[in-house]
Amino acid sequence: MNVEKIKQDFPILFQEVNDEPFVYLDNAATAQKPKQVLEVLNHYYEHNNANVHRGVHTLAERATSQYETSREKVRQFIHAEHVCEILFTRGTTTGLNWVARGLGDKLVSAGDEIVISQMEHHSNVVPWQELAKRTGATLVYIDLTPEGELDLEDARAKITAKTKIVSLAHVSNVLGVVNPIATITELAHKVGAVMIVDGAQSVPHMAVDVQALDADFYAFSGHKMCGPTGIGVLYGKKKWLEIMDPVEFGGEMIDFVYHDHSTWAELPYKFEAGTPNIAGAIALGAAIDYLTELGMDNIHHYEQELVNYVLPKLLEIDGVIVYGPSDPAKHTGVIAFNIDGLHPHDLSTALDMEGVAVRAGHHCAQPLLSYLGVQSTARASFYFYNTKEDADRLIEAIHATKEFFGHGFI
Ligand code: PMP
Repeated sequence: MNVEKIKQDFPILFQEVNDEPFVYLDNAATAQKPKQVLEVLNHYYEHNNANVHRGVHTLAERATSQYETSREKVRQFIHAEHVCEILFTRGTTTGLNWVARGLGDKLVSAGDEIVISQMEHHSNVVPWQELAKRTGATLVYIDLTPEGELDLEDARAKITAKTKIVSLAHVSNVLGVVNPIATITELAHKVGAVMIVDGAQSVPHMAVDVQALDADFYAFSGHKMCGPTGIGVLYGKKKWLEIMDPVEFGGEMIDFVYHDHSTWAELPYKFEAGTPNIAGAIALGAAIDYLTELGMDNIHHYEQELVNYVLPKLLEIDGVIVYGPSDPAKHTGVIAFNIDGLHPHDLSTALDMEGVAVRAGHHCAQPLLSYLGVQSTARASFYFYNTKEDADRLIEAIHATKEFFGHGFI
């Protein structure tokens, strides 16, 4: 990977923030967009903008063909069997909500259990809490090991004959661990439960094969993988999508509308009510082209190199606590940490003064933070356009911050 060359594709990285060269380490929140994606977005609006699946005029056909080509690109990217298994959504949150509403309400009843884990993002907690409330089911949490990994023994104990749904993050947006999805899927399927995966932090960083994982559903967001905001994907196995109800109703998703009832369009259209994010889907296709050109395995290995470099340096700093495994081999480029005696918001503000953007807060994972016994953390998260120099800038800025706040404070 020629990262210096790759970086040239991201004009946003070449600016000063607070009079310092900018270092962007908030990639778990959203990734930056390469010129190639921005150009496709612009080109679509300048030359091809029209509504899809409706008109027969030339631009409508162009827009429809590009939109559907993107769907096929997504299918190939995650190795789904059928293109009709790819639904365009607003993002991971929408995908998980659609499954909870459209399928959860059909499958789950009082006394059943929905199994998630202690490390879930709110978007993989709240829809299940609401489903449990609607149906009288119980939400069950798989615990974590002291190192912050999924406790497999606990998973085996909690996935039982009562389990109807298991929903799990592939990669945690706080602990940076990769969960053994194929193993958990096997446990879920053994008891007849549906397996749902939150892939928001995995699809941008590693090759994902939904058929190899055997997951029933897999949701992710375009904006974390160099695509625009407002576009995402829900993959679902055809057999489940045929059973699942649409959550939104209106134009585009119908086959025929009578005065007293309506029938639904075939897959995948039955889920895509209204005018979709056409430009977003086309630009997501361009993001997939870009990532594919770099190679997902190359991206994964390069990010691992960065983690091998930065994690030990971070752990060496006096007073630093890293959440999740301290072994770089078990940690992705999402690194949540605190400095003893320093509020993460103060830390993040101080790092921003040095031009280094990290996130501070609860990272939409309040149940996890309370499980870990902390209110908030700082989080540095890397992507393939980050360099070892960026990692050095982070480490230097942390040292400068410690110096600034003084020993009496820390
Ligand atoms: N799950 C995880 C693990 C995430 O990191 C995020 C985004 N922070 C989401 C779900 C939600 O993604 P979105 O806001 O794009 O719907």
